[in-house]
Amino acid sequence: MFDEASQAAWACKDTMTMMTIKDFNINAPSRRCDICNVEHSEKTASCRECNNIIEKHKNKCTTSEVRNALKRAYSRTENGIRLFKCEYTRIESHFNITNKSIDPIDDALILTFDHKNPIFKSNRGEVVVCLFIINQIKGKIPFGCFKNIITVLAEYFNNKNQENSDKIRETLINIKNFYNEEKLKS
Ligand SMILES: [Zn+2]
Repeated sequence: MFDEASQAAWACKDTMTMMTIKDFNINAPSRRCDICNVEHSEKTASCRECNNIIEKHKNKCTTSEVRNALKRAYSRTENGIRLFKCEYTRIESHFNITNKSIDPIDDALILTFDHKNPIFKSNRGEVVVCLFIINQIKGKIPFGCFKNIITVLAEYFNNKNQENSDKIRETLINIKNFYNEEKLKS
């Protein structure tokens, strides 16, 4: 079917194709993102999507704090959108990478960064990913105290009685004492 000339032409064409692919790979090397593991051709360790999240939030935490929090929280990518899990609820969501500021109600389920155990500037604690609504409720309270408050409040809301009201007061006093003790240590 193929004469010698045609075979030679095909062989030449294959070599050219291989060279083109090889050359393309040299010009645009791809690597895996250190956060989401998606292949990319950026010169940085992270892909463009993850870099956008880091750039947008690095003013509130250091770049390495943001990067480590993202690595721990990464879940999966859907339609190009990087999804991460909230540290406290395990709910999957995404970050706001637009220039629009986030709304406390409309964007309640947008992800933010939180210092898990913030006490003082010298010891701000680990940075984690968490839903905006949880971040608003938690404020600057260390995680252990936050958990105690939420637990006694839930008990109180379920059985409104004097005993639980006393328990809320006791929990809040303990938190105040905890803060004052930490202040003396610093
Ligand atoms: Zn990435």
